[in-house]
Amino acid sequence: MKFVLSDYHLAKKEEFRQFAEEEIDSGESYPRKNLQKAAKKGYMGLPVPKEWGGQGEDFLTYTLFIEELSRVCASTGVIIAVHTSVGTFPLLYYGTLQQKKSYLSGLARGELIGAFALTEERAGSDAASLNTTAKAVSSGYLLNGCKLFITSGGEADLYTVFATVDRNRGHKGICAFLVEKGMQGFVAGKPEKKMGLNRSSTTEIRMEDLHIPVSNRLGEEGEGFSIAMSLLDGGRIGIAAQGLGLARAGIEYTTAYLKKQQSAGNEPAESAAFTLAALATRLEAARLLVYRAAAVKESGGNCSKEASMAKYYSTDLAVEVAARCIDICGLSAARSTNPLTGYFCDAKATQIYEGTNQIQRIVVSRNLLEG
Ligand SMILES: Cc1cc2nc3c(=O)[nH]c(=O)nc-3n(C[C@H](O)[C@H](O)[C@H](O)COP(=O)(O)OP(=O)(O)OC[C@H]3O[C@@H](n4cnc5c(N)ncnc54)[C@H](O)[C@@H]3O)c2cc1C
Repeated sequence: MKFVLSDYHLAKKEEFRQFAEEEIDSGESYPRKNLQKAAKKGYMGLPVPKEWGGQGEDFLTYTLFIEELSRVCASTGVIIAVHTSVGTFPLLYYGTLQQKKSYLSGLARGELIGAFALTEERAGSDAASLNTTAKAVSSGYLLNGCKLFITSGGEADLYTVFATVDRNRGHKGICAFLVEKGMQGFVAGKPEKKMGLNRSSTTEIRMEDLHIPVSNRLGEEGEGFSIAMSLLDGGRIGIAAQGLGLARAGIEYTTAYLKKQQSAGNEPAESAAFTLAALATRLEAARLLVYRAAAVKESGGNCSKEASMAKYYSTDLAVEVAARCIDICGLSAARSTNPLTGYFCDAKATQIYEGTNQIQRIVVSRNLLEG
């Protein structure tokens, strides 16, 4: 067992750090240019096999990328994390040859942006109770319903949408469908005004008598729920890596702040130094959880427990880092323009999506108690 990154992974991490610092802008609008730059480098499909237009990198390399990206711009981080894992992996893992030919290479090369549409008004954590319907009609299905808070809503080209063919069948009635942005009956709402991650467009999407050919159903009828859950395992590791990037950004900012104070003759209070030490230690612990989850996923094993542990530990830490660092930096951090307030707002959202951190604890405890 090795507790340090290999030379290969260290080199990739450095490559990603440089790319993020030099190429990624942290402006205010939807980061289209960032996505184009990432696509040019092949970073929109890092863990996708080369035969399908990706880079054939392992999952750890992908998590290193998301960490470096999120350290500089967490909005770009979540867009690419969602696009790669729950946006592209549906095709890679469950797509037919024809579906792969139609969409997978475009997604992996970043010519298409992928999205994942599961959440509804009364079906967030309890996704199995979703209400979007898929009525069988000649040559396909008619989809009706509304999804909420969809990352890259309106911007993405391809959506994996979950709908039920029969509510009475509970999660066994759920199917997954590949929905293109331009299809008749597909409507994206206005971007939500969120507390953080404001460059990532998050919208409702509505399906109004949207006709889907059978060839755009992903997997068999009734397999949609297990498809969604298995995709989220991988997705959560990416979000955990986002937590690492945000936590690191907060610690780095505060370390630089205290050093500046020191050089001006103001020694940091012992409590501030100890807080920083504790946060930096927990960041290393979080990193081990994330790398381990990535390794278990890469090995092909069931990574549910590891992914959930990594997701809640790392994103809870990101929130705590921002909050404690605001305490340490005092008044200077109370301005809304201070990066720490941005990290706090961005980090708060990472606790919620791809399963709230309460739900992650349920996954872990079920693994312990029922395993
Ligand atoms: C920025 C952002 C981007 C998002 N992007 C997407 C996306 O791309 N695609 C998508 O489908 N969804 C997306 N979501 C939605 C997100 O996945 C849901 O918000 C999340 O699953 C929680 O659902 P909910 O908000 O309905 O909360 P609820 O399920 O209503 O939960 C409310 C509270 O109750 C707690 N809770 C619920 N059930 C339990 C339980 N059994 N035990 C203990 N506590 C419980 C929850 O942890 C939470 O604190 C996004 C959300 C945000 C904020």
